[in-house]
Amino acid sequence: MTERELANHVLEAIDRVAYRNAAHHVSRVRIAVGGRRHFDFELLDHTFADAARGTVADGAPLMVKLLPVGRHCLRCGATFDGSARDLGCSACGHPHTEAVSGEEVKVLDIEVDES
Ligand SMILES: [Zn+2]
Repeated sequence: MTERELANHVLEAIDRVAYRNAAHHVSRVRIAVGGRRHFDFELLDHTFADAARGTVADGAPLMVKLLPVGRHCLRCGATFDGSARDLGCSACGHPHTEAVSGEEVKVLDIEVDES
């Protein structure tokens, strides 16, 4: 998924919410992105602002929450929140753990203007 695809995906979700709420303007959008996704957030910001021009989300800030990467220990089976890098197990210290999440992309909430 590229920054443009993500921006379009978010705008589609905004469209649906705005339509359902008969909203004319969206004031803020929050999304969550898994820690294994490699987006250029500055580029995403520009791309989103560009794509939103002339829509209900024109000028709405896009806030991104980075989600932790869930990791699974190959030795003891413990799961814990880590990062995209292979860090040792927090339970047994085994040096190798595999990522089991961190690819998520979801829209958390969309704030609409009532007026
Ligand atoms: Zn372990």
